[in-house]
Amino acid sequence: MQIQCSEREAAVFAHIAAAAKTLQVPAYLIGGFVRDKIIGRPTKDADIVCMGDGIALAHAVADRFTPRPHVAFFKNFGTAQIKLDDFEIEFVGARKESYRSDSRKPDVEPGTLEDDQNRRDFTINALAISLNEADYGALVDPFNGVQDIESQVIQTPLEPDRTFSDDPLRMMRAIRFASQLGFNIAPATFASIQRMAQRIKIISQERITDELNKIMMSKQPSMGWNLLDKSGLLKIIFPQMTELHGAEYIDGKGHKDNFHHTLQVLDNIIPHTDDLWLRWAALLHDIGKPATKRFEEGHGWTFHGHEVVGARMVPKIFGRLKLPQNEKMKFVQKLVELHLRPISLTKENITDSAIRRLLFDAGEDIEALMLLCSADITSKNKVKVKRYLQNFELVKQRLEQVEESDRIRNWQPPVTGEMIMETFGLAPGRNVGIIKDAIREAILDGVIPNTFEAAREFMLQKGAALNLVPVTG
Ligand code: ATP
Ligand code: MG
Repeated sequence: MQIQCSEREAAVFAHIAAAAKTLQVPAYLIGGFVRDKIIGRPTKDADIVCMGDGIALAHAVADRFTPRPHVAFFKNFGTAQIKLDDFEIEFVGARKESYRSDSRKPDVEPGTLEDDQNRRDFTINALAISLNEADYGALVDPFNGVQDIESQVIQTPLEPDRTFSDDPLRMMRAIRFASQLGFNIAPATFASIQRMAQRIKIISQERITDELNKIMMSKQPSMGWNLLDKSGLLKIIFPQMTELHGAEYIDGKGHKDNFHHTLQVLDNIIPHTDDLWLRWAALLHDIGKPATKRFEEGHGWTFHGHEVVGARMVPKIFGRLKLPQNEKMKFVQKLVELHLRPISLTKENITDSAIRRLLFDAGEDIEALMLLCSADITSKNKVKVKRYLQNFELVKQRLEQVEESDRIRNWQPPVTGEMIMETFGLAPGRNVGIIKDAIREAILDGVIPNTFEAAREFMLQKGAALNLVPVTG
């Protein structure tokens, strides 16, 4: 073998080779597995291509294991899958594809290994390793994929316009691989993406967003987002993001290019979190800036309320990108809305009540919010960044102290809406809300202590002020 396999992998491949020999179908390891082994990245699944019936081969392979693994197969696609613990193997018959212009669904017919390699998206993804007796382990590399791995280049095996026009998802894949592997896209391939960008419109949003999420989970997502931008794809798939571009100057006063600032914040947060949604929050934290940008005479550029406007934009953006409309979206929305709050606490003379209020509003997500805020401290001025980060440490300590003494996270005021209704014989309505909010505010502001007795007393006072009379003692 020209690649380093674990004993387990080698044993599995020996079984596949034996089954293929019995069926007399040539078989090869192909695609991402071969690429990642050569690069030295971890692998979890392997693709096998055979010159024959992939489903039949999968069954013959399954027969060789006890217990016999389940074979999941899709007759229409001629593909089959076997899962051996956490090692997934996919089987497919080699094929030749031809495309029509209105669809990414090709006409498919059985083909040779060469045909099958020709239909692969990039040279680094077209590598095959023989599982056949005559040349077991030999690498079949018709497009110099190994050399492209060495020089860290992504390019299409055939003419790029054709490759991207046939299946425009490949444009997203090129950029995603660049971002995951830290490779460059070859100039001719990239120029083709720029020409073909409009074709992305025939691809379903779900597939596009899968690639976006993979970019988000890569080591340096800014690389992917910059390439999306430069290729012209971003303007089509996520125009709000491109609107962050451009520093304007009036009276010699400029502001940061919010596109680059955003990507820097995103990259900053990467080493601190694997949470996809916190990464999305970093990407979207300033999305409200273009809509709120004003030039104020004698003052300069302002983006007042951009956190509120941005938070309001989140559900729409998630809708358009077909990201989930659930608590993940709510989390991103909350972080966008609160992203300025911890910074505002770096000023002097901050009261405990301001700290309590942030703990209450952020709740369980306070750590995520603090990560976002540290990542948001970007400036070319190193001294400034250092000073901000130091002040920020102080805020963190205050948050810990206040939480330690007041337990505000996950806190609910000691008097509930039900108690208020019972006490004054009220049906659900405006007055209940007024009293409830007043109690919460009084406790957060430190006007009354966080105890049931104090809250109850306060409720009675507040009720009296609203001309309410208790019906119970
Ligand atoms: P990963 O699994 O890390 O996303 P991969 O390269 O294995 O990377 P898959 O989507 O699993 O990607 O596809 C497996 C192989 O199938 C690829 O390596 C490539 O050879 C081929 N392939 C996948 N999608 C396409 C496509 N849209 N056009 C051409 N070839 C493709
Ligand atoms: Mg794969």
